[in-house]
Amino acid sequence: YFITLEGGEGAGKTTVLPLLKEKLSNLGYDVLLTREPGGIEIAEKIRDIVLDKNHPEMDRRTEALLFAAARRQHLVQKVLPALKAGKIVVCDRFIDSSLAYQGYASGLDMEEVFMVNQFAIEDTMPDITIFFDISPQQGLERIAANTHRERNRLDLENLAYHEKVYTAYRMLLQKDSRRIKAIDASQRLEQVANEAMKVITNFLQD
Ligand code: C5P
Ligand code: MG
Repeated sequence: YFITLEGGEGAGKTTVLPLLKEKLSNLGYDVLLTREPGGIEIAEKIRDIVLDKNHPEMDRRTEALLFAAARRQHLVQKVLPALKAGKIVVCDRFIDSSLAYQGYASGLDMEEVFMVNQFAIEDTMPDITIFFDISPQQGLERIAANTHRERNRLDLENLAYHEKVYTAYRMLLQKDSRRIKAIDASQRLEQVANEAMKVITNFLQD
C-alpha cells in the first residue's frame, strides 16, 4: 500500500514518519519510508534546485514541472518497485503538496497542476493520505522553536502564503474525503503518531 503524509510546515510529518515505521514493523509489515521532493539521487538534486533561495527568478511553472519531474523519477525508481515487492510505502509529501504549494498558494490553476502531475504519476495515486491538520501560525511557531533544522525556504515565504497552503489542503480534504483523512497535528507528536496509526490500521483492516 502507498500511504502519503501531507500538511504544512511544522506539522510533524517528518518527525512522525520513523515512529510509524516502528509501529508498522511491530505489526509485521515491511515498510519503506521516503520523502519528496527527494528520496533518490536525481530527485534530491532537483530538490536542491527548487529549494535554492539564490534563485528567486525561478518561474512558477518551471518550479511545478521540476517538482513533477522529481516526483516521477522517485515514483518509478523507488516507490513502485517497493510496492511491487509487497512493502508499505510511507512517503513524506506527494501530489497534494504540489496542488497546495505550486498550485493554489503560488497562484497557479490547481487543475492544471493536477494535469502535469497526472502525466508524471500516471494512475498511481496514494491509497490513503493523512493530512496533518495544524494552523499555519502554530506550525510556524513550532519551527521557530526548533531552528536547527533544514528550513531554508521559510524566510522567503510569509504567513499569508502558508494560510493559502492550509486553505488548499482543506479544499482537497473536502473534495476527496475517501482518500484523505485529517488528524489533529497540534497535539504532542507521540499522540499525533498514534492518531496516524489509527487511520492506517483502519484502512488496512478494510
Ligand atoms: O517537507 P519539507 O519540509 O522537506 O519541504 C521542504 C520545503 O519545500 C518546504 O518549505 C515546502 O514549503 C517546500 N515544498 C514546496 N512544494 C512541494 C513540496 C515542498 O514548495 N511540493
Ligand atoms: Mg518535513
